[in-house]
Amino acid sequence: MLDEKIINMKEEIIKSVQESVRIRSVEEDAKGDMPFGEGVNKALENCLKLSESLGFNTVNVDNMIGYAEYGKGDEMIAVLGHLDVVPEGDGWNYPPYAAEIHDGKIYGRGTTDDKGPTIGALYALKAIKDLNLPLKRRVRIIFGLNEETGSKCVKHYVEKGGEIPVAGFTPDSEYPIINAEKGIVTCKYKRSLKGDGNIVVKSIRGGIAPNVVPDYAEAVISLPKDKFDTVKKLGEEVEEIKVEEKDDCLVIKLFGVSAHGSTPWKGKNAISYLLSFLGKLDLKGDMKEFIDFMNQYIGFDLEGKNLGVYLEDDVSGKFVFNLGTICGSEEEISIEINMRYPVTKKYEDFIDTFKEKMALGKMEEIYLRHKKSLYVSPDTEFIKKLQKVYEEKMGEKADLIAIGGGTYAKAMENIVAFGPVFRGQPKVEHQPDEYIEIDSLIKNVQIMAAAIYELAK
Ligand SMILES: [Zn+2]
Repeated sequence: MLDEKIINMKEEIIKSVQESVRIRSVEEDAKGDMPFGEGVNKALENCLKLSESLGFNTVNVDNMIGYAEYGKGDEMIAVLGHLDVVPEGDGWNYPPYAAEIHDGKIYGRGTTDDKGPTIGALYALKAIKDLNLPLKRRVRIIFGLNEETGSKCVKHYVEKGGEIPVAGFTPDSEYPIINAEKGIVTCKYKRSLKGDGNIVVKSIRGGIAPNVVPDYAEAVISLPKDKFDTVKKLGEEVEEIKVEEKDDCLVIKLFGVSAHGSTPWKGKNAISYLLSFLGKLDLKGDMKEFIDFMNQYIGFDLEGKNLGVYLEDDVSGKFVFNLGTICGSEEEISIEINMRYPVTKKYEDFIDTFKEKMALGKMEEIYLRHKKSLYVSPDTEFIKKLQKVYEEKMGEKADLIAIGGGTYAKAMENIVAFGPVFRGQPKVEHQPDEYIEIDSLIKNVQIMAAAIYELAK
């Protein structure tokens, strides 16, 4: 019944998704009472208006987050989506905010991530409402406005005492169900340096972000001309190195392989190679101390073992360590690190040891951000219900997935990632020519409707 009802709503669903995609809701500076700027606010207003027209009560929490609600009952289940999008970037064949349809796909920024699924969830609830299906719990479709840049929206909701669902999902990742997400620490440390010796590191740089394995790093060193050959010879022993002369200096270039910070073993860390090479040179003073510290406690280690922070569990595996960036001059040097700890472990299990080691290396903290791990046991009732729905709708087993990354589910208690991307579908979110297949969109609405009903009945 639900499935058929949703098929009959197809044109309406497409039209509403198109309308939302046509609003460029990229975060901008705050304007008046619009903390994430005008575009994001328009997307919220549009979605709240749509919710009202579909017959739901709506709430706007200070233009930071909003929701539509339906039903009665003490308990509430939620679908957490978001209406902000990442900037369109270059390389599009279709206009990014026109929501044009070609070959059964709606093209545009936000079609998959996450306007299509979020507006789809509204229609899933509308189908339940139109069919008068009896529910014991209230249902809330939540419209986050800041998923892409820090989830300040949900933080605000929680701080204001917003009701936390007893169960729910976010259609902002992939199927079947992600019930385990590693905890993530991202940090930056620096130390000041005093130069010494006759080989001096003038500058050093590498990497683009803490959560990316750097594929390139370089150092400019000044040294007496008669030592050039020795260093060049050393360089020839390492495949990843190129040593070039530039003015009175040598430029040491290291070529690695990029990968995501959650899977650093798929890459080759150019900074680690560079530091290892610099460790072979006759450096003196603070720079030598820094390089020795880095090689001893980090080196090529991708599991935090050298630092003594290694942890593992059966659900999600090993601790993951990535040295993402380095930037320095003769006076100061800084590094950024991204670490992921197993889902059943805690921040407190390793963070003191980590900070002690950094202090040992005279490293001073610039920032340290933490997103705690997420783990919902497979025995939890709502996980079993989501599995049942998925298996019925898809005719295949609903495996539970553990990931090293983090999804929107981390922002709110009792939420797990469920959809919208099906197995085998290519990654389109954050890419040029982002699209959603209309068939996938409708299938998503059907699955979400069944899931909402299963959780709320
Ligand atoms: Zn998203």
